[in-house]
Amino acid sequence: MNSLNDLKKLGDSLTINEGKMPLLFIGHGSPMNGIEDNEFSENWMILGREMTTPKAVLCISAHWFTRGTFVTAMENPRTIHDFGGFPKQLFDVQYPAPGDPALAKETASLIHKTTVGLDHEWGLDHGTWAVVRRMFPDAKIPVLQLSIDYTKDGQYHYELAKELSSLRKKGILIIGSGNMVHNLGILNWNLKTSGFDWAIEMNEKFKKLITNGDHTPLIKYETLGHAAKLAIPTPEHYLPLLYTLGLKEENESVGLFNDTLLMGSISMTSVKIA
Ligand code: ZN
Repeated sequence: MNSLNDLKKLGDSLTINEGKMPLLFIGHGSPMNGIEDNEFSENWMILGREMTTPKAVLCISAHWFTRGTFVTAMENPRTIHDFGGFPKQLFDVQYPAPGDPALAKETASLIHKTTVGLDHEWGLDHGTWAVVRRMFPDAKIPVLQLSIDYTKDGQYHYELAKELSSLRKKGILIIGSGNMVHNLGILNWNLKTSGFDWAIEMNEKFKKLITNGDHTPLIKYETLGHAAKLAIPTPEHYLPLLYTLGLKEENESVGLFNDTLLMGSISMTSVKIA
């Protein structure tokens, strides 16, 4: 260690090693965002380019909703095409990112709220690969998924998330992937990039609570009234947000992006915490 350059290098590596990876909640929307270049997927690409390259990605996707909690633990997770009625081009997508069985075991051991099962059947569903392939197109970084236990409430998921906190310092990027407002049953294609009144109301309410760090009403989302019932008719797309928020530490700042309502009843609003 005998030159300024060496000292600077040491300083840089310490910053990287001691720094925490950011937290993301991504509104993933249509699986087509996995192949279409649009305002949403372009922001995912920018995010991937601008952040410190993670050692691995752990994604909590709306599309892996299970009884109990599982983490993918295979060497090579398959690309799951868990949708219908889309072009062949989308079914042809493969995202051959490796898994990381050792990290899966470590993740399971961090969680004390429940016994986490090591899964060898799932893989990467579109809630994960549609987003992560745009962020890290080389598919070189290991990607794991953690499932969402559908028998548990918001408080449980918010608290379980906190047990993952040490992974951030080890260079693991944790992503919640869902949509805060997600009601496919009443989509109106004519509304394109706008929302129903109740969707606008909930999107604004969610943003305000998130930026103010007022998490209790978000955890108890069932108490937020009629508009919330329309925004969250089923909780699978909403609960990934509670993993991202549960991991936020007090001194961290919150940024919002992709703040757009689509077809009346979907919000793409996304959160970055760093
Ligand atoms: Zn989805």
